[in-house]
Amino acid sequence: QLSTRITGLTGGGSDGWDVFLKARRMIAEGTPVTELTIGEHDIRTAAPILRDMHASAMDGHTGYAAVPGTDSLRRTVAARVEERTGVPTTLDNVLITPGGQAALFAAHMAACDPGDTALYIDPYYATYPGTLRGVGAVPQAILTRAEDAFQPRADALKAHAGEARSLLINSPNNPTGVVYSDGTLDMIATICRENDLWLISDEVYETQVWEGRHLSPRALPGMADRTFVVGSMSKSHAMTGSRCGWIVGPEEAIADLITLATHTTYGVPGFIQDAAGFALGQGWDFEAEIAEPFKRRRALATRVLAGQNTVGLVPSQGAMYLMLDIRGTGMTGEAFAYDLLDTHHIAVMPGESFGSSAAGHIRVAMTIEDSAFETALQTLCNHAEM
Ligand code: PLP
Repeated sequence: QLSTRITGLTGGGSDGWDVFLKARRMIAEGTPVTELTIGEHDIRTAAPILRDMHASAMDGHTGYAAVPGTDSLRRTVAARVEERTGVPTTLDNVLITPGGQAALFAAHMAACDPGDTALYIDPYYATYPGTLRGVGAVPQAILTRAEDAFQPRADALKAHAGEARSLLINSPNNPTGVVYSDGTLDMIATICRENDLWLISDEVYETQVWEGRHLSPRALPGMADRTFVVGSMSKSHAMTGSRCGWIVGPEEAIADLITLATHTTYGVPGFIQDAAGFALGQGWDFEAEIAEPFKRRRALATRVLAGQNTVGLVPSQGAMYLMLDIRGTGMTGEAFAYDLLDTHHIAVMPGESFGSSAAGHIRVAMTIEDSAFETALQTLCNHAEM
């Protein structure tokens, strides 16, 4: 008999990824499908980063690495976060993890005891509820509205904050592409302080902002002591397969999280960490270059969708996704996604896969080359008009 912790991880329901699985089956059977489902770059990790990784491995950095991360990478991440937030940050505030996903799990292990209520914002990144259940917490969704551009509202948060232990946010957001305004983040910080909540801030898309700015809540008054910032090399440097991310938080919490890492992941390979340090050393311009295709495609989508009656573009400012409002078709996101796949072999994610707040929407990943992307969007719009 397996534990309910494992068997109940996805909550027992359908996880809403059936359209994605169908697209994968069609591709395996030889049908060409335009794949706009997954958040993975259409470029690979840059050659200089790979050369550095190779050199590090050849230098012998293939044994156990220090569990908290190498001092060098921890210092680099600390300096990056300090530059972003203005909050003094040292290597003692940093744990290097095998990607952002492992960081999310570990941060909630630190924040929640079994049975505690852990809040997250709906629509949400697909793994969130399972991650919260995995640490034994009870996930509680905070619904948002398309009319508010999916920014959370104070009344919705306050309705659950009193009973909760933590709040998980993600800006720039997957799946909506929305970047939280300074006002939204101030409101969230106030609610966290007033209700003694841990804030877990998933900032894996921090370098993908097309308008406005990314503000880390670690920068806000009284928040550094109650915030875990989750970061990753996956999206900023097209290094999804390298599995390298981090948690930045209060020193005492990081010390305990290092003990957790000793009993779970046992660290991240040294040659990966060396390459991550090298990549981060290339500076913000290098990261802006990696994000550029998404910025370009976002602008392209704005042009294609201008004047469309049936498909609306959710006003978003970042990340590698578009959220499209297809309520005008009278279809659910799921029905539309199936229809588009069957008729035109274009695969998108139904909004319902990311929670009830995104019903009647679809998520489009901007992860194919510009002209194919434009053609797919045009086909999608024509299909919606029918
Ligand atoms: N958080 C969000 C919002 C994501 O979209 C993803 C990946 O798609 C992750 C975390 C996990 O990223 P990784 O574990 O590759 O760092």
